[in-house]
Amino acid sequence: MLKRVLFGTFAALVLVGGLAYVMAPGIADRMMNKRSGSPPWTVSAEAESLTKAIGPIDLHNDVLLWGRDITKKSDHGHVDLPRLQEGHFALAVFSTVTKTPKGINYIQNDSSTDQIKLLAQLSGWPAAAITWRVRRAIFEADRLHAAIAASHGDLLLITTRSRLDSLLALRARGSNSVGALLSTEGLHAIDGQLANLDTLFAHGFRAAGITHFFDNDLGGSAHGVTKGGLTPLGRATVQRMEQLGMVVDVAHGSPTVVSEVFAMATKPVWVSHGGVQAVCPGPRNLTDDQLRALAKTGGVIGIGYWDGALCDPTPANAAKAIRHVANTVGVDYVALGSDWDGATTEPFDASGIALVTDALLGQKFTPAEIAKILNANAVRVLRAVLPAR
Ligand SMILES: [Zn+2]
Repeated sequence: MLKRVLFGTFAALVLVGGLAYVMAPGIADRMMNKRSGSPPWTVSAEAESLTKAIGPIDLHNDVLLWGRDITKKSDHGHVDLPRLQEGHFALAVFSTVTKTPKGINYIQNDSSTDQIKLLAQLSGWPAAAITWRVRRAIFEADRLHAAIAASHGDLLLITTRSRLDSLLALRARGSNSVGALLSTEGLHAIDGQLANLDTLFAHGFRAAGITHFFDNDLGGSAHGVTKGGLTPLGRATVQRMEQLGMVVDVAHGSPTVVSEVFAMATKPVWVSHGGVQAVCPGPRNLTDDQLRALAKTGGVIGIGYWDGALCDPTPANAAKAIRHVANTVGVDYVALGSDWDGATTEPFDASGIALVTDALLGQKFTPAEIAKILNANAVRVLRAVLPAR
């Protein structure tokens, strides 16, 4: 028991990196996934009913990293099934994280340290997940599979166009079931072996980011050292993802990776969580030229609500970023990408998404346009990319 406590404590210490705090993992989760606002959320009746009628889709959360029981409502963090249902969500993308550098930051990180490996070692993850990143992704994915199995149909794994269509038909009949799509943040998760991409696909993964916080063997990160372009493995991986039916995600990509993926893509690409330079300058937010190249693929950018995406993280500023995308390339190319539970401080959790609907009404978007932003644009990308059945 004491050994476990010590291990957990050390794991939390490793997770928070430079902070000289000693704490249990649950406290690390609480410390790193904060809310700047709290319920009850003040939203107009129009925004609430519109959100309910539309059923939002969120393109990125990291809740699977923390090991919370997502079938139960937690008093901290941002995402679980009850809060997704309170927010009337139709679908959420659950991402896995397989390697993060010590002293993680947006400017420059090398790949020499591996906090997730330490977390895996110290938290008692299976031995294979200590050695192989692909097994870490699968270990975290199994947390989602377990939650789905325990949810009695409230949470449904979306792996094909036909499952997506069934979910939307079910919801159109009044069900509040929520779709779950599996992703991974950075394809260093394949341990340098393209065959491991097929392993992830077989395990239900249907989206993946090329890079995360450091340059990897597929290409450069926006937060890496050399910030280069796609490697031969990176190009082969993008092609294989398109063949299999996985959405290519360029969130966290270096500018060269972002433009090279847009140029070679034959299917819509997404930026699962980010912002725009026009509203918030920063290494991971898109320029207007990048927005135009994204739109040419038929893809979407999911606008987030944390400081890295918006600088001033408010629902009004999220709506301003969405308005900028709509004015620059059209309302068909923008969606929601919260980064909930991604070691972020967020103005609201999944239950408060109608705050964004309200802010979009404030930006004079019509209900039909809001339906595209909250749901239909993401559905279009998934229909274009996912295997039929
Ligand atoms: Zn991220």
